Formats: sequence, structure tokens, C-alpha cells
Amino acid sequence: MVHLSQIPKDQELGTLPEAVKKIRLQLSNYDDTFTTSVYGSKFAAEDLPKHEMPEGEMPKEVAYRMIKDELSLDGNPMLNLASFVTTYMEEEAEKLMTESFSKNFIDYEEYPQSADIQNRCVSMIGRLFNAPTSDGENAAAVGTSCVGSSEAIMLAVLAMKKRWKNKRLAAGKSADRPNIVMSSAVQVCWEKATRYFEVEEKLVYCTPERFVIDPVQTVDLVDENTIGICVILGTTYTGEYEDVKAVNDLLVERDIDCPIHVDAASGGFVAPFVVPDLEWDFRCEKVVSINVSGHKVNESWARILKKVKLRLSTAEYLPQELVFNINYLGADQSSFTLNFSKGASQVIGQYYQLIRLGKKGYRAIMSNLTLMSKMSGEGLPLVAFRLPNRGDRHYDEFALAHRLRARGWVVPAYTMAPHTDNLKMLRVVVREDFTKNRCDALLCDIKLCQGMLEKMDRDSIKAQEDYIREHTVNSADAKHNHPRFRKERHSIQGIHGKTHAIC
Ligand SMILES: *Cc1c(COP(=O)(O)O)cnc(C)c1O
Repeated sequence: MVHLSQIPKDQELGTLPEAVKKIRLQLSNYDDTFTTSVYGSKFAAEDLPKHEMPEGEMPKEVAYRMIKDELSLDGNPMLNLASFVTTYMEEEAEKLMTESFSKNFIDYEEYPQSADIQNRCVSMIGRLFNAPTSDGENAAAVGTSCVGSSEAIMLAVLAMKKRWKNKRLAAGKSADRPNIVMSSAVQVCWEKATRYFEVEEKLVYCTPERFVIDPVQTVDLVDENTIGICVILGTTYTGEYEDVKAVNDLLVERDIDCPIHVDAASGGFVAPFVVPDLEWDFRCEKVVSINVSGHKVNESWARILKKVKLRLSTAEYLPQELVFNINYLGADQSSFTLNFSKGASQVIGQYYQLIRLGKKGYRAIMSNLTLMSKMSGEGLPLVAFRLPNRGDRHYDEFALAHRLRARGWVVPAYTMAPHTDNLKMLRVVVREDFTKNRCDALLCDIKLCQGMLEKMDRDSIKAQEDYIREHTVNSADAKHNHPRFRKERHSIQGIHGKTHAIC
């Protein structure tokens, strides 16, 4: 035992012991692809295939882990307060949905129970929206599940256009200049629908003080070529409900034959519980169709169930020629959808929510959300806010959003719809999993981030913003965009700089 150590001479330093010198480096020759742990496998030291499908296979544990690890760089959906999309569902719902992943909903004959469950959802939601139920072939409303509100809206626009066209042709008039009246704050799917189906947009603009349509302006825009009016129950920017009843009453008063479609993507599952007396649905006689997103605000996971409901005389508002009767394995099925196959799990998840929560359960959740946001219930449970107008403030809503992002919160900033003086704002959608506790944590972090921004000087904030804009947020310049499709100049965003709010 040596406790007193001798200080080595220079030449003794750094020389390897003889035994170590004899060691040969023996790295795995990788013949065996996977008998070790995931991170010990050769795949951990290689690039993941990105462009060309790999020649060989990969063990399932490795593929799973590599993809999962990469996805961990995505934001955390629970902290994504910008999104309307539900981020929490009960385990039982998840289980039911996972168990039905392999069912193709269109195979009615093979999966008659799934089809029946959709019909139950249609009936429950139709009744919730006061759809006419009287019997007789032409009187009862119909509904269908869609992939999302976008599909439902495309279908509604097609139905309105066809009905208008039939009416015009029957009267011996031209039918080549259809238009639709809608708010400039519409969700982008409305712009898609009008472009894809060649319908002219007649926009009702917002103002710096008003972020919803003005009913009089809206009805004033209607002419003989108007196929319908879109009214939004809960805009994506401020969550405010547009006044369906006022538009309806003006149409009735002026005796104008123009249908209303209500885009209730987010509001359809909020208003009936929190403000049941608000008349926005089929109680208004001009409302002929409604879409609602099952996955918005608190319904159920992702793209669950969206409805188009066509009221009263289905023969009139849902032109027969748009419905296909598919003879599937011997049985005739009517189909009004844009695509054919889709998973059954969305419909199953929706049904679970409806029977699990019941009206009482929905009301309880929506009441909490309303308490956490705007107590008055005049809109969706969301808080849209901006920084106070202060001449000497050297940072904007976008800078605050980026700071919050560093703390994990996703609260993006937006530029509002056109004609609002380029108003910038932030939006927090209050979802089921946004408790008082989480709300307090957010407020603390907003204060913290603002404090930090106050301390930073104008130039460094600007440099940081420019850097972020250039490298991360400017999707128009994103490398994956084909050069031909960058910087489009035809949408409301392209023309006016409005940013499409995340949904
Ligand atoms: C989200 C949203 C849509 C589009 O719905 P998807 O289900 O995402 O297709 C349409 N309108 C409004 C008001 C929305 O919030």
C-alpha cells in the first residue's frame, strides 16, 4: 500500500501500460442488426432514412423509439393554448378508438354497428341544434359524419351552389356567376371552398372595433347570384359569435330567398349548453345547414365528427344529384361525402363522449371553461388579448409569443383579419384541461417574459425577431414548399397579411 505517492517524471506521463498497448480496437461489425439495446444498435449512429425508402428493414423497437424521440421536439399539445383541438380524452375513449382503427367506416355492410352509431350521433346532435324532425319524405333534416369541418363546409357550399343553380336555370336565368357572402375572418377552408368550386367571395370586412360581421352589411351584399351566407358561431380570432338571428330576421323582413350556413365548428358544442336561449341554429328559419367539429374545444380527439345538416325539404336544400347511392354488398347506401374511406374510430369516439357526458356533463365542463374565460358566454371560451397601446414599448405580441415558447407555452400571435389596422393579438383557448392552476402558471410566465422583454434593448429584440422570422416561422420561404407555391398572393392572407389562426 502506497500512501505517499511519488511525483512522476515527464517521460513517464502519457505512456500507456504495455498491456493496454496490445489491445485491439474491436468495434461491432454490425452483421447482426439488433441484439443489443435500441441506442446500442447501428441505427442510433446513422441518419434516419428521409428521402429514399431504405433497402433493409429495421427492428420495430428501434423504429418506434427513433420516431418517438424525434417527435419529442414537437410542442407539447397540452401547453398549446392556441389550439381549439382537444388534447384530453378519457382512457376508455382512447381505448375504444384504438380498437376500431382497423374498421373502414364506409363498409356499412361489414360494420353495421358503426354505421348505426353514426346515425345515433346524427340524431342526438340534430336534436341539440333543433333540427326539424317532422316526418314525410321531404321534411326531416339529414346529417352525415365528415373528416372535418372543412369537408362539411365544402359539402354545404356544393349543396348551396347546386340548389341556386337549379333554381336559376328553372327560371331561365344564367347561372355562371355564383357568389357567397361571408366574413373576412373566415377560416381558410371557406376560401378553399369558394376557390375550388368557383364561387365568388363577397367579404364583410371587420373593423378595428368589430371583429364579427355586421348583419345589415351582410344582407346588403346579397344579390340574385348569392348562393348563401356563412355566419360563424365562434370566430377563430376572438371566439365571438356572429349574430345569426339578426341576419335571419333581416332576410325574413326583406323577403330574400337566401339560405344561411352556420359554421359552428367550435361553438356548436358550447352554445347549446351555456347559452341555450341563443337562437343561432335551426330555430332560425333561414338556417339550412350547420357544421360542427367534434374535435374542437372539448369534444373528443382529433377530427371526430362534423355534420352537415340540411333542413326542411331535403329535396330542395340537398339536391338529389349530389347524393350517391352506393350498392355495397347488396344494400343501397346513400352517401354525401368528398372521400370514400375513413376510419370508424372518430365516430365511435364521438358517441362515447355524447353518452358518457350527457347534457349535464357537457354543461359542467363548458361552465368551468366559461368561468375561466369570459363570464358572459357571448363567445367561445377563449381569451384573445393584446398589449396595451404604449408608444415606448419596444416589443410586440410576436416577441412575447416567442418568449413564452421558450417556457414551453404555445400562444402564437396573429395579425387580425383585414381592415383592422394590422391589429396583432394573442389567443388562449380555454380547453377542458386548462385548470385554474395551469392558468396561474401561465399568468406568472407572461409576467416573467414581459419583465425580461422590458429589460432587453430594442436592437436585440429586433435581431431575435428577425432571426426567428427568417429561420423558423416564415413558412412561405420554407424549404419544403415548392418554389412555385411560395408566397401566394390570392388568399386573404396573401393579399392583406391576415394570418390564419391555428385551429
Ligand atoms: C377549425 C375550423 C374550421 C375547419 O375545421 P376542420 O375540422 O379543421 O376541417 C372551420 N371553421 C371554423 C370556425 C373553425 O374553427
